[in-house]
Amino acid sequence: MSDNKIPYKIYLEENEMPKAWYNMRSDMKNKPAPLLNPGTGKPLTAEELSPIFCEELVKQELDETTPFIEIPEEIRNFYKMYRPSPLVRAYCLEEKLKTPAKIYYKFEGNNTSGSHKLNSAIAQAYYAKKQGLKGVTTETGAGQWGTALSMACSYFDLDCKVYMVKVSYEQKPFRREVMRTYGATVTPSPSMLTNVGRKINEQFPGTDGSLGCAISEAVEAATTQEGYRYVLGSVLNQVLLHQSVIGLETKAALDKVGVKADMIIGCAGGGSNLGGLISPFVGEMLRGENQYEIIAVEPASCPSFTRGSFVYDFCDTGRVCPLAKMYTLGSNFMPAPNHAGGLRYHGMSTILSQLYDDGYLKATSVKQTDVFAAAEQFARVEGILPAPESSHAIKVAIDEALKCKETGEAKNIVFGLTGTGYFDLVAYQKYNDGVMDDYIPTDDDIAKSLAKCPKI
Ligand SMILES: *Cc1c(COP(=O)(O)O)cnc(C)c1O
Repeated sequence: MSDNKIPYKIYLEENEMPKAWYNMRSDMKNKPAPLLNPGTGKPLTAEELSPIFCEELVKQELDETTPFIEIPEEIRNFYKMYRPSPLVRAYCLEEKLKTPAKIYYKFEGNNTSGSHKLNSAIAQAYYAKKQGLKGVTTETGAGQWGTALSMACSYFDLDCKVYMVKVSYEQKPFRREVMRTYGATVTPSPSMLTNVGRKINEQFPGTDGSLGCAISEAVEAATTQEGYRYVLGSVLNQVLLHQSVIGLETKAALDKVGVKADMIIGCAGGGSNLGGLISPFVGEMLRGENQYEIIAVEPASCPSFTRGSFVYDFCDTGRVCPLAKMYTLGSNFMPAPNHAGGLRYHGMSTILSQLYDDGYLKATSVKQTDVFAAAEQFARVEGILPAPESSHAIKVAIDEALKCKETGEAKNIVFGLTGTGYFDLVAYQKYNDGVMDDYIPTDDDIAKSLAKCPKI
């Protein structure tokens, strides 16, 4: 198809939606290192995981060999309410930048939760329901995951208990109300409801909380209540598996208009949207069929890939969760209250960590004020008010498009626009008032936190 015939929005038909998720691990020669039991130091078995996670999700978590896992029809029907999501050719942004690059973005903000997280929330709620559970517990940072899970739980009539990082609970009261509207119970974390919450409050009085703390609380709440399991919105292999729907649709849409991506860019918090977006492309790289340049973008305030170490670490601050081998800043790392709440996690998906270590992807970090400048530029020409998290990818996509202007290259740049920023207007306000800061941790801060990683 000649370039100027590519529509602004490349849609797939309902019957072109993926019927199976793609499991990148099946094509990886170096598999991600297994989760370890913090007590024994041995790889976790399905039996040990099943008090925490639903059975079917345990299977998916541990499955390194099945390439495609069927998406149950009930989940596909739910997906049809907001999927396939559009792949947009950013003609207006290209024109504004006067770049020869061709920019595409996959927009995942077209649902009430406002992000890609619903893709995994509905899958996890479905398996919990199928197992006959009463409900699930979870943590949420900025609130996107909690919102997504509340929607998914109400659809399948499951109870939903959300531990919300305190700083977000206070900064984002509106997200809390969306969750309550969908029937969830929302508790600011660290709370006084769990042992681990009480301990963290004692150790760090007045703490703003972190995702790591909230995870510890949610896990404790799940394992101490009959009929409950814990669910997590990022980092885990099962979450990347569910999010592969983003990449599969992106690839199918690009194929439909005969475009090959040169560069794929995504923001990276725990790695789920990026892992999902790149999965079919990385699959081709792993099988030696194609080459792509892949860039993970993280905040300078929480730079796990670019300044962390690839070691075994706890997934949570309270050290109740398994150990994962990942790029980490240390489970004690308390990131500055950056406004991209969804990117404030100390570690990174074990799959992406292994791929990064093997050279399949690059990473870069960006400063908060530069991110908001890019968000504003994007909003003004493309008409979508982006989430601060997504704007990390926008920032690097714009930078890469400007490089193309210098070199005259017409690269096809694809990035993940993971969500909308309507609940992040306090952050936009700070930016507009010129009072947003750019906190960057010192080498000493990071070294101190990494020193507390277990020696394995
Ligand atoms: C949660 C979130 C992210 C980051 O999480 P990943 O698991 O790294 O994808 C990015 N964008 C938005 C809008 C989010 O809600």
